Amino acid sequence: MTSITQIHELLVSKKMSASELAEQYVSAAERDNPEMKAYITITRDAAMSAAREVDAKIARGAEIPPLAGVPFNMKDLVSTAGVRTTCASKMLEDYVPFYDAAVWEALQSQGAVMVGKGNMDEFAMGSTNKTSYFGAPLNPRGKSRVPGGSSGGVAAAVAGGTAVYGIGSDTGGSIRQPAAYCGVVGLKPTYGAVSRYGLIAFASSLDQIGPLTANVRDAAIVLDAISDKDSRDMTSRGTAKTADRLTGDVHGLRIGIAREFFENLPPEIEESVMASAKTLEKQGAVLADVSFPMVSYGLPTYYILACAEASSNLGRYDGLRFGHRAEEFRDLEDFICKTRSEGFGAEVKRRILLGTYVLSSGYYDAFYNKAQQLRRAISNDFEKLFGAVDCLLTPTTPSTALRFDAQLSPVEVYMTDICTVPINIAGVPAISFPCGFDADGLPIGAQLIGRKFDEQTILNAALAFENATAAEFLRPSNGGVSL
Ligand code: GLN
Repeated sequence: MTSITQIHELLVSKKMSASELAEQYVSAAERDNPEMKAYITITRDAAMSAAREVDAKIARGAEIPPLAGVPFNMKDLVSTAGVRTTCASKMLEDYVPFYDAAVWEALQSQGAVMVGKGNMDEFAMGSTNKTSYFGAPLNPRGKSRVPGGSSGGVAAAVAGGTAVYGIGSDTGGSIRQPAAYCGVVGLKPTYGAVSRYGLIAFASSLDQIGPLTANVRDAAIVLDAISDKDSRDMTSRGTAKTADRLTGDVHGLRIGIAREFFENLPPEIEESVMASAKTLEKQGAVLADVSFPMVSYGLPTYYILACAEASSNLGRYDGLRFGHRAEEFRDLEDFICKTRSEGFGAEVKRRILLGTYVLSSGYYDAFYNKAQQLRRAISNDFEKLFGAVDCLLTPTTPSTALRFDAQLSPVEVYMTDICTVPINIAGVPAISFPCGFDADGLPIGAQLIGRKFDEQTILNAALAFENATAAEFLRPSNGGVSL
């Protein structure tokens, strides 16, 4: 996979122009997309004109920021003025926002080149990308496998060489799980590190935007570009800049290994993640056995809170103001009912129903309030652990990329997020990085979890692993552009 630093080097040394690069990436995306479906919309003209502006800047002898001219994939739930933003739903198939999300403003100010909008699970609900209204993207590491979800198209674009990096969102694992399945790096920043202004909401208290990249340093570069305090998102406060302070030094770093995250794992995942712990130990880190018994409460807590918030957030899709509208109806109620029945897919409907149920009177205390109490307990446990260790190392997922034809119940699919949801519940940051391969050659991801607003520590540790293993687990992209 080509990195952001490599592209930056090519541009400043004038070995390639931003326009040539954009042409290559957009053409590769156009060529591969009918089969791979990593993109919902490819924005050729906008990409080319952004690239020309970067070339003009270079020609003037001006310095360019690290993301200038670097082609990327933006998950299709980040609002882009003038470019349709579908959330992979029939409901928003023709929705064109009239304003830019804060992250897109930040990226544009650097001269970023958006190749297009990334495929995803409908409204970011899912772990396979099979719920996309536009058809599921394939995993470039094995086309019979799902890319993961919900930022599956974004991860697939990076692994498939049609984007250098991607912007995803993570409510319960949607950056880290597809990153693990596709063999790329994925960072979910601390809740509040990146503004959610313009991010189409799934579960507002859990949603967070973050990067999917070819390596750890790139994740730091993108995080630095997008993290900021923004008065339009009252929960945002930014986070400290990371890339310039990356050392890859883990001497004395206390890494906790919580056995509950390792229960019922396929042996090859357990072995790879434990081997990465040993690698970090050799680099000077100190491993500590710790316990996190709340792991098993993560999924039920998450599915109650996330669905409750989703049922409220998705109430706005009534066909009156924007989005899909039913054509034939008897009266207003019938119109709204038909609009929502036609516009939403099965998984979204399931979540809205579940969320409405747990919020309804009589059930609110039994489910929603209980889940809030568990949320506090899970957060407290993380805080306690972070008194004893500096970060935790866990697997990212309990399996490698699932087969497309695997017949799993919704709950079995939800289980793939067992290691990632507690992190969103507590609002702490976590990074997934490739640490091995299974017997079929599919990537395995390890996850480092850190203290709030301390992305630096987990980025450093992940970089230490990448350096110590000579990036052996970062395979070149399968397809796309090769420079
Ligand atoms: N896979 C999880 C879900 O289906 C997480 C989704 C996400 O992080 N957006 O809800």
